[in-house]
Amino acid sequence: MDVIAQMIQKKAYKLGYEKCGIISIDLMDEYAEKFNERIEKIPRLKMFYQSQQRLANPKKIYPWAKSVVVLSVAYGKYKVPEELNGHIAKAYLFDTRVDKNTKQYQSNRALEKYMQELGLKVETNQKFGVVGMRWAAMKAGIGIIRRNNFLYTESGSWVQLEAWVTDREMELKETNNVVQCPKACNRCMTSCPTKSLSAPYTMSPTECISFLTTFGVSNLPQETLSKTFGNCIYGCDICQDVCPMNKGKWKEEIEFPGLPELSSLLTPESILKMEEDFYRERIQPKFFYLSSEELWKWKVNVLCYMRNNYKESYKPLIIDACDNENNKVREMAYSICRKLCLQ
Ligand code: SF4
Ligand code: SF4
Repeated sequence: MDVIAQMIQKKAYKLGYEKCGIISIDLMDEYAEKFNERIEKIPRLKMFYQSQQRLANPKKIYPWAKSVVVLSVAYGKYKVPEELNGHIAKAYLFDTRVDKNTKQYQSNRALEKYMQELGLKVETNQKFGVVGMRWAAMKAGIGIIRRNNFLYTESGSWVQLEAWVTDREMELKETNNVVQCPKACNRCMTSCPTKSLSAPYTMSPTECISFLTTFGVSNLPQETLSKTFGNCIYGCDICQDVCPMNKGKWKEEIEFPGLPELSSLLTPESILKMEEDFYRERIQPKFFYLSSEELWKWKVNVLCYMRNNYKESYKPLIIDACDNENNKVREMAYSICRKLCLQ
């Protein structure tokens, strides 16, 4: 048994990680093969997958890398503010990747420092990962990938994954007691509003609400799928919320630092009235999938929500948005006014 690998795992547990496994970097080769097969099968997704290429080929980017340390941390312990429930995906509400105030962010930094002190060369990318994380976690024994494509541990799918590549040959498999999906279950697929999750393990990212309301959104006023977005404003949890294997896994035990203060400022009405300076300072650093120039995309998402869940109190806000300085916001607002005969 590799003593260094065991020391890393022990340190990870001490820092609050749920699981920690280590695999050879060679185990990512199979992921690259599957990744390329998928691109060949669905050429229209080529553009999307091109941006993910680096995760499939870590050896090209880190030629010195020999192993991958992969960890899970459960986030289903935070209280979900009522105003935001179902509107903003939980992974974004409780995102610790960039939030320096969270214990998890500090644990991430402490673990990296510890590995360096052990003499290892390591590399991570806190925001976007260094390898195909779910694949690495499955190979490391951290959990299983279910038909909705999420990785599940005993905490359900409410886990954040973190990974480092290292220059040391190591292997340390984790253990899990996660059972497979019930044979006849297809609840995640039948519940997907856009049919992006069309078959087991088959999801078209460019039709997924999570993509279309965050970094993939470019022309929502013309996107016919937007009519199916329901309550979603930024991200989507539907295929995880409906999963029986997530039942009872969200515990709501503690407040997420800073979120109670922010929640009243993220209601649909508040977003639509939000000023650029406030957005850049308070909102964008947390929800970093949209840039500091893209408050307009939040506003288009909110207008889409208001159309899909229309009530009279939204009328003056939608009419006001027809005079917004951004043409996409105006386009969305006008189209709603036309459709609902608002004046
Ligand atoms: S996140 Fe939402 S849109 Fe995307 S696959 Fe799941 S249910 Fe479908
Ligand atoms: S909803 Fe059913 S099929 Fe889908 S991931 Fe959960 S258990 Fe598996």
